[in-house]
Amino acid sequence: MTPETSLSEAFRLTETQKSALTRLGLLSVRDLLFHFPSRYVASLSEGTLGDLQEGEHVVLYGKVSKLEATKGFRSKIPMAKAVFEDASGIKINLIWFHQPYIAKMLRDGERLYVTGKLTRDSRGLGMANPHTSKSGVFEKKDKNGPLFEDNHKNTESYTPLYPESRGITSRWFYYTLQKIFAAHVHEKLEDPLPSALLKKYNLPSLSSALVWLHAPRRQSDAQAARKRFAFEEIFFIQLERQKARGDYQKNDAFSISPAKKDVEEFIQRFPFTLTNAQESAVHTILNDFKKGIPMSRLLEGDVGSGKTAVAAITSYAVVMSRPQKEDGAGAQTFGNLQTAIMAPTEILARQHFEDFVQYFEHLPIQVGLITGSGCRKFPSKVNPKESTPISRAQLLKWVANGEIPILIGTHALIQKSVSFKHLAYTIIDEQHRFGTRQRAELSKKEGYAPHLLSMSATPIPRTLALTIYGDLDLTLLDEMPKGRKPVITEAVFGSGKEKVYERAHEELAAGRQLYVICPRIEEPDGAKERVLQMKSTKEEAVRLKKEEFPNARIEILHSKIKPKEKEEIMQRMLGGEIDILVATSVVEVGVNIPNATTIIIEGAERFGLAQLHQLRGRVLRSTHQSYCFLLSESKSKETKERIKTLVSAKNGFELAEKDLLLRGAGELSGKRQWGISDVGMEAIRNIKMVEAAREEAQTMLHKDPELKKFPLIARRVETLKERTYFE
Ligand code: ADP
Ligand code: MG
Repeated sequence: MTPETSLSEAFRLTETQKSALTRLGLLSVRDLLFHFPSRYVASLSEGTLGDLQEGEHVVLYGKVSKLEATKGFRSKIPMAKAVFEDASGIKINLIWFHQPYIAKMLRDGERLYVTGKLTRDSRGLGMANPHTSKSGVFEKKDKNGPLFEDNHKNTESYTPLYPESRGITSRWFYYTLQKIFAAHVHEKLEDPLPSALLKKYNLPSLSSALVWLHAPRRQSDAQAARKRFAFEEIFFIQLERQKARGDYQKNDAFSISPAKKDVEEFIQRFPFTLTNAQESAVHTILNDFKKGIPMSRLLEGDVGSGKTAVAAITSYAVVMSRPQKEDGAGAQTFGNLQTAIMAPTEILARQHFEDFVQYFEHLPIQVGLITGSGCRKFPSKVNPKESTPISRAQLLKWVANGEIPILIGTHALIQKSVSFKHLAYTIIDEQHRFGTRQRAELSKKEGYAPHLLSMSATPIPRTLALTIYGDLDLTLLDEMPKGRKPVITEAVFGSGKEKVYERAHEELAAGRQLYVICPRIEEPDGAKERVLQMKSTKEEAVRLKKEEFPNARIEILHSKIKPKEKEEIMQRMLGGEIDILVATSVVEVGVNIPNATTIIIEGAERFGLAQLHQLRGRVLRSTHQSYCFLLSESKSKETKERIKTLVSAKNGFELAEKDLLLRGAGELSGKRQWGISDVGMEAIRNIKMVEAAREEAQTMLHKDPELKKFPLIARRVETLKERTYFE
């Protein structure tokens, strides 16, 4: 057996196991070694409920009964309830908030595994929102007794649990890995981390770390192993990002030095004065433009902090400039530099287009829009105050000959058929929603590499920004324009929901619109989670229609809906054809609907603070007073305190840091899209580790920019480059 031996060659596998492994992407022995446990349980027991303490995270096997779909007595929250009984006859109460249909999914008397944390209240032991599994996290071959000889009272023994997949069990992983270790395969792997680094940071070697990870004898061993892999992952991401940055900056860029007076005049037309943060961002960017090497910068700012204004001013500086030292420039009629702006959805692209048209209305500057469903150009020949639809071919021709200096669009912008005359500046909105490949596509050079500005409203902690945006310089817009009415935020625990709906009725009566956000459902299987989310939005919409808002036009939005339809729904919301949008957190990103004044967030305790803040951002830009209600049934004092921080806090970055502190990296909003593994995310909690990995990467590249002395590392960096991160 070698690391490259295929699993079906090395082990006898059933068809079910084969397809489960394929589904998990596990083909070789090496794959299996690097398939990390998602957690460890201190016990795995049957018939020992009586010995377990509240607060313990356990997997139990037993029988469910008394299944019931019901509603909270006062809260009216829909829920499922059941009683769970293990072999010893001890009973605990199971409850699933907001998931009444679970009562229908399970059968009375059915035997299954439940996984979760034990809680205790006046009625005894219980488990809230447990994960259930019929096949079991572990195979149920042994009739009685624990599957492992571990004694759960001995807290020094840990059982690894792997991300579950139908057809393959954690038990299988455990025994198979034992065989692999016995065959010494893990010792044949070359350690990609130089031994000097391991020593310096006191990290275990690759082969020890693999054993400690899959079969820890002590908690500290598993932790040391995870620390190593966390460091390794961040180190390689840093290497890849820093190297990309170095490579990009080897290109020439247009050097742009607009007259200060012109820029000031452009700004003076705005109906507002810039915030200090905006001014300094503009200053920084214009300074980068002068250097003749391409800028790579991230502009982070909450929704409404005025990023678009910064984009417009800096675009102005670009499109009013002519290329210098370029081929006989005088020969071209349309010689100005060009700007491309890419947004993740059609609605957002259109909003940017409309914003830019307003900013450039008074200038002889044409603005183009290109999306999957059509193209537009401003100004129209007939009406110089309006934009007009034009053919794609015509638009592309004018972009290619430089006549249209500003082009705004969706992914359509990076198709092969789109070419620019003098692309000098690219702006990407909500960049994490694009892959690195798409980003590279847009900033591909045609003679000169364009300056790059990424914009993001997703508040993330510094450690995460340093990691995933390791190739970008960071500018924060951490100040809101003056005079904007803050959203009135209220946390409502248990009772008081009537008042929330009263307010909602008043707003609807005044012609405003409303968002209702359904609680997040945690479910390891993404596909299953989406189905559950869909069900919960549907149920909530039906309930609202029946019990609260019989006359309202209610629509639902969740991640099972196709992007095209999603856009249509948002478009109808924008057009005022929907009164109440019942949604999952998919409404998080971007679309500005000024007439939506109220957002009600159910199950607020299930969201991270940063995510709640972003959801609240949906009603931030209303010209009317807006409201955010955070509803929670939680009885925990800490949870209540946590939710209440939103009432006072204003800044998304602070909240992201707080999330990290209080809830850990796993709870960072949008975690899945960062392309960092769970183990890697553990490093994000640790600023020292991130900084160390960053420094080591910088040092290594400084000494050896092409990584010639580290072929193993160079190869790994190459594969990382191929991978698209931010999708
Ligand atoms: P973002 O893209 O960061 O969400 P925008 O640039 O779209 O924010 O600005 C949001 C709104 O605030 C727009 O209507 C814009 O005209 C306005 N705005 C931008 N900057 C300021 C400012 N300094 N003072 C007042 N209003 C501003
Ligand atoms: Mg914006």
